[in-house]
Amino acid sequence: MAQQYDDMEERRRRKKRREERRRRQRRQALIARGVVLVALLLILFMIIFVVGRLTKKGDSGSTQEAGTQNTTSEGTSTTVTDGNADATTSVGTETAGTTAQTFVSTAAANADLSTKEGVLDYARLQAAQYDYDGAIATIQSFSGYESDGDLTAEINTITTAKNACTPVEVSTTPHVFFHSLINDYRGLIASETCTEERVEKNNKAMTTVGEFDVMIQDMYNAGYVLISLDDLIVKTTNADGSVSISKNTNLYLPEGKKPLIMSEDDLSYYHSYGENGAQGYADRLVLDENGEVKCLFTDTDGQVKIGDYDMVPRIDTFIKEHPDFSYRGAKPTVALTGYNGVFGYRTNDYYKEGPEGADLNEAQKTFLRNHPEYNYDTDVAEATKIADAMKANGWTFASHTYGHRNATDATAEQLQADHERWKTAVGKCVGETNKIIFAFGADIGPVMGYTADNAKFTYFKEQGFDIFCNVDGNIGWTEFGSNYVRTGRVALDGVSMYNAITPGTPSHDTYSYDFDVLGIYDVASFFDSNRNPTYCLSES
Ligand SMILES: [Zn+2]
Repeated sequence: MAQQYDDMEERRRRKKRREERRRRQRRQALIARGVVLVALLLILFMIIFVVGRLTKKGDSGSTQEAGTQNTTSEGTSTTVTDGNADATTSVGTETAGTTAQTFVSTAAANADLSTKEGVLDYARLQAAQYDYDGAIATIQSFSGYESDGDLTAEINTITTAKNACTPVEVSTTPHVFFHSLINDYRGLIASETCTEERVEKNNKAMTTVGEFDVMIQDMYNAGYVLISLDDLIVKTTNADGSVSISKNTNLYLPEGKKPLIMSEDDLSYYHSYGENGAQGYADRLVLDENGEVKCLFTDTDGQVKIGDYDMVPRIDTFIKEHPDFSYRGAKPTVALTGYNGVFGYRTNDYYKEGPEGADLNEAQKTFLRNHPEYNYDTDVAEATKIADAMKANGWTFASHTYGHRNATDATAEQLQADHERWKTAVGKCVGETNKIIFAFGADIGPVMGYTADNAKFTYFKEQGFDIFCNVDGNIGWTEFGSNYVRTGRVALDGVSMYNAITPGTPSHDTYSYDFDVLGIYDVASFFDSNRNPTYCLSES
């Protein structure tokens, strides 16, 4: 008995020693990481300083520095728990860094950091979007802040808010998606400009601006906060140079706030959507006089207008009014095909062949006949400007395949040829992407996980894809592999809305549950009265 007790005692002591040793190692590793980070940041700082000097850059340069400072102070001086310190290191450099950084670049353009009021405004905006460290760094970048009661009080307020946050479980994040929004009845009722076939398609897969606005407001009221698809993961480079992907466990939000991912599919304003408002759609995205992304749209009176006539400007405006709907400036992801170009610009190089082009279909030829003024280079330049403005504002892009291909049915070779076309027609304007949102939700593998012998997966990985999205009524379905993440998306469209509010329909239980989870409780109250319910029964 005594012997047994001694053994236990000895084991206990050994375990304690082991734990102490591990703690020590962890501490040392943390310090080492901190030192490396500080050194890297110092170098970065010097580069920014030198470049700043050379180019005599003004405001944006100084904000950049503020952002850098923030990470430095976090890593070294601030007293935080181990978990939090990790959060700043990995999230700051790996994932959320992307969105935080891009957000800084846009918001900084409007921030006047030379005055105390400007500094306070900007810091409050950053804090409202859960970038507490960035907000504190902004204040600390203001010369003499230590002796200013308002500024030090604001730091205290922000610190209190930061400390009240808890880590969020991202593996159940709902991912909802929309198509281009319909602005009025013209897309829902058959007419000279809208065939019955289009009425059916619009009823099924589309959402009106009225429906969209209520749903966004409801999800916001329910505590949802937009995060980027990139916020789901942390990428780590291993010793052998390979890159591992794991779940981001360092996303912090206040009590009552929940993450939400959003995407918009097929933002091309296809020829099938009609022109000049024929079906209530915008014609294209444009930049307004302030450089903001808006839509060109023809209303029911034939008036041509520039404004919030689709999801991109509507979300931008909503977040301007409700900054806390966005985690560090994150915006939705736009999934793009290439065959009709992007954003209403005909950036597919096949259009260069002219109205008789061998690679063009009838709709494309008709477009070229009706638009002799069309110029490929101009369209590519315009679309690129819009993509740049969106990226600087937190939006990201995904491949939706070039030809709206069904990736389940297509062979690996076909998908490869398709993706080469995507790079020519879309990638040229929006740049590279690590996200693919499957057309028709048609995935390249079963839900048990992608395997190494999956030739389609291997090809997409080689092409830089990390994030794969299908369609799944099982809201929040997310799968983390060792080198990818996959999320299931729920469409908030005619079919899901009608099924949710109509007992006995094929997917009533699924969708009424999904809308409940999203905090959208009274779909019937905003379901567009111009809709034809028989078309909203099922997607097929
Ligand atoms: Zn699509």
